[in-house]
Amino acid sequence: MASARCNLCGSTAAALDWRCRACEGSLNLVDLPPFDADAIMDADFSLWRYGAMLPVARCFSLGEGMTPLAPARIDGLRFHAKLEYLNPSGSFKDRGTAVMLNHLAANGAADVIDNSSGNAGASLAAYAGAGGLSATVYVPAATAVASKKRLIRAFGGAIVESHDYLADVYAAAESATYASHAWNPWFVLGQQTAAWETWEQLGRRAPDAVATPVGHGGLFLGFYRGFQALLAAGLIEKTPRMIAVQSAGVDPVIRGWEAQAKQPAQATPSQSVADGILVDQPVRGEEILAALYATDGFALRVNNVAIRRAQRAMHAAGFMIETTSAVTTAALPQIRARIGESAELVLAFTGSGLKAISNSH
Ligand SMILES: [Zn+2]
Repeated sequence: MASARCNLCGSTAAALDWRCRACEGSLNLVDLPPFDADAIMDADFSLWRYGAMLPVARCFSLGEGMTPLAPARIDGLRFHAKLEYLNPSGSFKDRGTAVMLNHLAANGAADVIDNSSGNAGASLAAYAGAGGLSATVYVPAATAVASKKRLIRAFGGAIVESHDYLADVYAAAESATYASHAWNPWFVLGQQTAAWETWEQLGRRAPDAVATPVGHGGLFLGFYRGFQALLAAGLIEKTPRMIAVQSAGVDPVIRGWEAQAKQPAQATPSQSVADGILVDQPVRGEEILAALYATDGFALRVNNVAIRRAQRAMHAAGFMIETTSAVTTAALPQIRARIGESAELVLAFTGSGLKAISNSH
């Protein structure tokens, strides 16, 4: 049976734990069912078609997953866009939230909390509503986008604005269930379904490379682990090159990769137009770097001017993505220079631009 275990000391965690009680290390799931192509439920057009590989008691769903994989190009450079922003609450977070909250609710959670600059909070509020739980989201008073806060409230979530929201949410986690998109290992498991869908959508093949924006790296690691599961099942020949994109100034993973270090670099909190990836200390930074090294991957930084330009180009091409999602397209010339013109590339379009349309136009 699948369970959560500490990455540092190996302790087994309880069902509602978000980190190791003994040493505060992060948790990963062990004894997950192997990927079995014959177990895919073809008639289910949500991520629950992979239910045999998602060992949670499923009680509620908003039909998350099965997002389109669309052909796209910018400045003549081609790629496949995985339209994660078309998930129910408008971001990729719904995959992880759906799996995590079903797990937590089945184990008795009623009041769930998270800290979020927007997308994870909206996702938590939406799924808490679907599952009959109550959600409180701690948002950074300085940087949270107003329209994303309104969205959290519209989904029925409560908001606590805080100048030290990380300390506040840790304190609140003493009495409520911390459904953390950064820490909870069931959240990352849900993100693996993005890789499995991509594999199906390409005719049961892996692309040559996958690029995602990286804050805490939930989607990045989900893609990586999802393709690892396909590799272990003998369904692909190798894992795609994993590409992490961050914004200049908030780039601890890039600086770790540039130094070929095991850990991300120490970063000072900074600002960027990519409000979804303002993460100076990724919880699973070591695992992100290990995935880059294991796949001959790389990490790239893009500046605000390039991000805004890429976002406008994608909007004009019909893709209503948020600013953070545009970091991967802003990096496209750098990516193509490294992987060549003909390599099959998937870029994750992570969040909806409709959430902040007045901020970007
Ligand atoms: Zn531990």
